[in-house]
Amino acid sequence: LVPFGLMALYQDSSFSITIALIDLLFILFLLFSAKKINEMISDSLYLQKKNQNLIEFLNKSKIDAEALNSKLSNEIYQRKQAKISLQKSYKKLEEMVDERTQELSQAYKILQQSQERLNLAMDASNTGLWDWNLVTDELYNSKFKELLGYEPNEIPKFIGHLSPHVHPDDYNRVKRAMVKHFKGKSDYYLVQYRIKHKDGHWIWVEDRGRAIEWDDEGKISRMIGTRRDITESRGADEQLKLAASVFEHVSEAIFVLNDKFEFVTVNNFFTKITGYRYEDVIGKGIHEAQNLPAETNNKYREILRALRRDKFWQGELNETRKNGQVYPQWLQINAIEDRLSKETTYFGIFSDLTTRRQSEEKLKYLANYDSVTGLGNRSLFSDRLHNAINRARKRNSKLALLYMDLDRFKSINDSYGHQIGDQILKTAAKRLTSAIPDADALCRIGSDEFTAILEGNLQRSEIENRCHNFIEAMKDPFVVDGEDLTLGCSIGVAEFPEGAKELQILINQADSAMYQSKRLGGNQFRFYSKELQAHTIEKLKLETQLRKAILEDELEVYYQPKLTLSTGKIQSVEALVRWNHPTRGLLTPDQFIPLAEETGLISAVGEVVLNKACQQAKKWQNQDLGNISVSVNLSAQQVHKGDLIELITRTVQQHDLTPSLLELELTESLLMEDKKNTIFTLDTVRNLGVMISLDDFGTGYSSLSYLKKFPIDILKIDKSFVQEIHENSDDAAITKAIIAMAHSLDIGVIAEGVETNEHLSFLKSQGCDCIQGYLISKPVNSKTIDQMLRKQAQKSSSLEAAI
Ligand code: C2E
Ligand code: CA
Ligand code: CA
Repeated sequence: LVPFGLMALYQDSSFSITIALIDLLFILFLLFSAKKINEMISDSLYLQKKNQNLIEFLNKSKIDAEALNSKLSNEIYQRKQAKISLQKSYKKLEEMVDERTQELSQAYKILQQSQERLNLAMDASNTGLWDWNLVTDELYNSKFKELLGYEPNEIPKFIGHLSPHVHPDDYNRVKRAMVKHFKGKSDYYLVQYRIKHKDGHWIWVEDRGRAIEWDDEGKISRMIGTRRDITESRGADEQLKLAASVFEHVSEAIFVLNDKFEFVTVNNFFTKITGYRYEDVIGKGIHEAQNLPAETNNKYREILRALRRDKFWQGELNETRKNGQVYPQWLQINAIEDRLSKETTYFGIFSDLTTRRQSEEKLKYLANYDSVTGLGNRSLFSDRLHNAINRARKRNSKLALLYMDLDRFKSINDSYGHQIGDQILKTAAKRLTSAIPDADALCRIGSDEFTAILEGNLQRSEIENRCHNFIEAMKDPFVVDGEDLTLGCSIGVAEFPEGAKELQILINQADSAMYQSKRLGGNQFRFYSKELQAHTIEKLKLETQLRKAILEDELEVYYQPKLTLSTGKIQSVEALVRWNHPTRGLLTPDQFIPLAEETGLISAVGEVVLNKACQQAKKWQNQDLGNISVSVNLSAQQVHKGDLIELITRTVQQHDLTPSLLELELTESLLMEDKKNTIFTLDTVRNLGVMISLDDFGTGYSSLSYLKKFPIDILKIDKSFVQEIHENSDDAAITKAIIAMAHSLDIGVIAEGVETNEHLSFLKSQGCDCIQGYLISKPVNSKTIDQMLRKQAQKSSSLEAAI
């Protein structure tokens, strides 16, 4: 077809061309169809092949797939595993993150806490922060207000604003410290100074800071630091200084020991007391530093043990000074534990008890001994008696208690004063001490009361001997200021166990026996007995009754006439008291006057008698019985009481009695007691016109020479002399001498107790002026004396008439 076509083409006609074209189209169609067929065959072949391949492939794939499958499942398994482990590690991670978070929050918390703590610490310590820009002089402050009272913006600059508030005395110091730091000479800028608070007061602050920034030239451009209020600790510093000064100047020894009990420091007084200097003891143990005796050394061991246990010890030690002298020491040690270092320091303080001991001894002495006589006092006496009774009980033996009271001491003490009284007591104590061999048993338990304990089973006669010794020892006059004063001693004896078995009862018994001796006139002793006790009770009763008697006018005055020998007339009578006792009848003075003296009732009794006597004398004066004077006995108490002049003046005036018709009878002993005052009193009374007579002359102690000193009109020779008057007796001679002497002194003499004509004639022969006694008349009541005096008056008038 191709050549046909080609020929047709080359034939240059349209038909040919059309044929050529058709030819070509046909060729193309053939080609296309061939190709298509070919394609279809090859496709089917391919497909066949492909199918075969596919089958093959499928087979292979199947194997592959199977392999893959197993691989896959394997992989899946592994993946699962991986996932699990991943999950696990994730969880762990989560946990770790948690943990870390927690840690972080914890750390944050801690940080926050420490920040808080820091803030608190800064608050508590009053510490503020500052940040100072040296280039601009700007200053940042915290706590500025708390510290200085200013708001920070009030003082924003350092040099410009703050510096002017610094105390002028401290300013240079602040500057120096700063410059030192600027120049790099100090690691810190540290300075303490005063700064003015906004309120105007000064506070102490401490600045501590350092440079943190420098400029290019190396100059400091920024500093930060803290500022702390140290006002209090400065105060504490001052206190420390004070404490140090106290430490050195206190008058107690102080020492400090470390935990090994070695001396760390001692003060001056330590050296003063012990003699050991600082360098002697420092570093040495307390028990080896001083030269301690073994006993003290042991004691120290005990102390150290106690200190470790109780942290405190105090007590008394017998210490030895460096010079070997032993002295009592009061020691107190405290253990103080340092809170930081936990080390224990021992702080000891001691004092020398020597002087205290001495004064204690003295006090003990004063508490037990009487400072006047040096004898034991009441308290020591009680102790001694207590012990003596115990001893006697144990040994089944006896003891006697002697209770002594000085007679007349009280009135001497009152009139001469306590100094003289003390002298007498001293002498009395000495005499008593030497009168008894076992002087230890002697005590002074009251103003003039002494006791003696006689141990050793003494017989009555031996006890009596001691009593005699005491009484004798007191009999000699006591010479005081050139004057002889005579006292006496009344003793009461009580016996254990016969009398009393108890201490206080024994004392009471001895006391009441002593009173009995006193009541009986003193200068004697009495043993306590039941009868005596009854007597004491009786006495108490009597005292009450006597008080009543004075008020209820039971006292009556009897009168005893005195005969004037030259005229043979009764010109004077003595008033003598009687007591019309409601039950016991008429009592004579010896039954109640001693009691009245003892109880102080004698002045009242005397006043009653004086009053009645004056009243009576005035009656006689009015009755014109011939100037009958009345004499009244005065007791010492009345004279020394101080109101005698007033009493006499008042009474005489009250009865309008001629004073010369009153006579006062005083005893010698009364005159001796308070001479100056007595002389004054008697002079005054005598100047009133009242007569003074000296009663019982010769029984006392005075000598005639004393008479000159006293304003005495009449001297009454005691009846004891008169009654012993026989021819050539001593008493006759004495009486004779007294009369002569009295007359030479212009003093009248009356003899009392004249009972016989013999007495009368002797006295008459000696020129005695008056006599008084039973020979003339006993004391009689006023009615009887009245009659006597009337009779006398009548007689004399009838005689006169007869003449
Ligand atoms: P006196 O002052 O020595 O009084 C004399 C005493 O001797 C009286 O005792 C009297 O009765 C007694 N007497 C008188 N003549 C004789 C005599 O011839 N023979 C004997 N054996 N005795 C005679 P009376 O009245 O018992 O008085 C005793 C003492 O009482 C007085 O002694 C006097 O010291 C005191 N007295 C009496 N009345 C008072 C008074 O009112 N005041 C004071 N303070 N004492 C008085
Ligand atoms: Ca008389
Ligand atoms: Ca007399």
